[in-house]
Amino acid sequence: MNDCIFCKIIAGEIPSAKVYEDDEIVIFKDISPVAKIHLLCVPKEHFAYLSEVNTARAELLGRTLHKIGKMKEQLGLSEGYRLVINQGENAGQTVHHLHIHILGGEPLPWGK
Ligand code: AMP
Ligand code: ZN
Repeated sequence: MNDCIFCKIIAGEIPSAKVYEDDEIVIFKDISPVAKIHLLCVPKEHFAYLSEVNTARAELLGRTLHKIGKMKEQLGLSEGYRLVINQGENAGQTVHHLHIHILGGEPLPWGK
């Protein structure tokens, strides 16, 4: 966990462009955006995979989706957005701390 870049961002040890933070999640700009708006929504608790989700984490993720929906205007996503969670090797997951990519700000091509 000490080597986890997102834990370091959450702890303030690495800078990030934060757009929202509360007691259980942080949202910051992706350093290498693939859409006009590309945010990462990261639970503060370190876990990597949906397969590690217990009841408490399921509730956390439910609240997180609820918050993203409520914040769509303030995040600049009124015209629509896409959420992506990469899991494991085939998905190209590079940071093994669960995070939700939030993509928007322009029409998004659909693809794999
Ligand atoms: P994934 O491939 O789903 O694991 O996504 C990891 C994402 O984290 C990639 O889109 C990276 O561009 C992004 N990323 C890695 N390091 C940083 C950082 N220091 N600040 C912001 N985003 C980062
Ligand atoms: Zn972490």
